[in-house]
Amino acid sequence: MPRKSQRVGPTTDSEGAQTMAYRACQPFVCAQCRGAILPGSLFSRRSQHVAWAAVGTGTWVPVCMTCRPLRLEGAAEAPPSPSEEQHER
Ligand SMILES: [Zn+2]
Repeated sequence: MPRKSQRVGPTTDSEGAQTMAYRACQPFVCAQCRGAILPGSLFSRRSQHVAWAAVGTGTWVPVCMTCRPLRLEGAAEAPPSPSEEQHER
């Protein structure tokens, strides 16, 4: 089963709150600005507590880095491993 996102690690947002950073493995749509979260980009997620929620994706929604900037320090912003894409065999 393909994974939709990859857990990067705990980080803090611009307000200093602890959150988990994820890397998208498929396109997501930000729940706040409805902008695209492209595969490979980082995003955070938050609990879904909106009234219109009829979304069948569970209890969380993705939020892009523009709406909720993350403080990525050092290891959290690891470049994607080149060995996965360049070694076909
Ligand atoms: Zn957004």
